[in-house]
Amino acid sequence: MSTISQNTKEQNEFPRAIIHIDGDAFFVGCELASKPWLKGESVVVGAERGIACAFSYEAKALGIHRGMSIFEIKKRYPKTVILSSNYLDYGMYSNRMVQIVGRYSNKVEHYSVDECFADITGMNEVLEMSYEEIARNIKHDLDTELGTTFSLGLSVTKVLAKCGSKHKKPSGFMVVRRSEIQNFLKNVSIGKVWRIGTEGSKSLTREKIFTAYDLASKSDEWVRRNHSKPIQEIHSELNGINIFGVHRHEVEGDQKSIMCTRTFHPFSRDPSQVFSYLSKNIEEACARMRKLGLSSKNFSVFIKTKDFRYIGGEVKLLRETSYPEEILNEARKVFDKIFDCDLIYRTTGVRLGSLKPIAMQTESLFEENKNIGKGRMYDVVDNISNKFGEHSVFLGSSMRAILRYEKDKKKIGIPSLGEVR
Ligand SMILES: [Mg+2]
Repeated sequence: MSTISQNTKEQNEFPRAIIHIDGDAFFVGCELASKPWLKGESVVVGAERGIACAFSYEAKALGIHRGMSIFEIKKRYPKTVILSSNYLDYGMYSNRMVQIVGRYSNKVEHYSVDECFADITGMNEVLEMSYEEIARNIKHDLDTELGTTFSLGLSVTKVLAKCGSKHKKPSGFMVVRRSEIQNFLKNVSIGKVWRIGTEGSKSLTREKIFTAYDLASKSDEWVRRNHSKPIQEIHSELNGINIFGVHRHEVEGDQKSIMCTRTFHPFSRDPSQVFSYLSKNIEEACARMRKLGLSSKNFSVFIKTKDFRYIGGEVKLLRETSYPEEILNEARKVFDKIFDCDLIYRTTGVRLGSLKPIAMQTESLFEENKNIGKGRMYDVVDNISNKFGEHSVFLGSSMRAILRYEKDKKKIGIPSLGEVR
């Protein structure tokens, strides 16, 4: 086949080429990279928290699960090796992962501590390799240079790429070309689809949608009539239509920051409503920070008026945190100073700066116990959010914003709570 027709074929099969990369049992993988003699053993990370935060596939096969107490593990599986978490190391491996992928594309989204997306569209011509060859090279570089394995999915949208990387873990490699989407999705259960999860799949299975294919094969009109925007977007992505772009996150270099901002409707002059939107942004930014294993002590908040005037303030905390309530206490003080009841507001936002790996937090001796408890609580919160979707658990200060948000999504409401004034 000539090069030109090969290129056309590749173009047809990959209108966009998106990769998702996921570290296999990442924290344990990082530990085993420096302690290779433990490979093949049942290994658990989380000694300092008293619960399993991560575990090897061998530990999983024994029945060890996330959140299981170390006490119970020691009692039931005495041969299991229990290690303390070393977030500083995991953060370094995580940044290395993004750097390695960055050799093949400058559009890399550092999605979480052990996951990233990359848009490699057009790189086949630049690198003179097929997309599959690029993907194999990325996986090879990651596995060999980091000493732990990664699962990779290559497809035409983020949702499909993520289904691909999940398909056959550990060390999976799955390419889903446009012509292969339908067949591939027949073997993907609906609960395994990114952003649907176990909870989201319940209502879909009631509609006899059991696989990703069952959803993808519904007409646009049916999905629009029966489901909210998030499901409509997933439906498009499963059909190979890009909705979710690959976003670069600046988490390296001196300009380390995470920003979360959103415009709300209707605009408001009610201070508790506006603060609630700010609180929700702070919760989201902190969740993102925890996902990346980072913390911050410098942050700024801002509010924007209906006519686009911008008012903000900066805060420096005594020590780094990744917990929203610690940021909210200070944000409240800034907010009270900058909020003017005579004005109408449209947007709130927060920028968390000078990000550092969580392990580099400087904690006082007296604070330590308190923070271990908080760390455990947020492990649970993050687990619930991973399982049931974001905002499944939220702070009271974000409630009015969440209610508004849920109301806008219409189909997924919180009817029992009603409108809070
Ligand atoms: Mg992973």
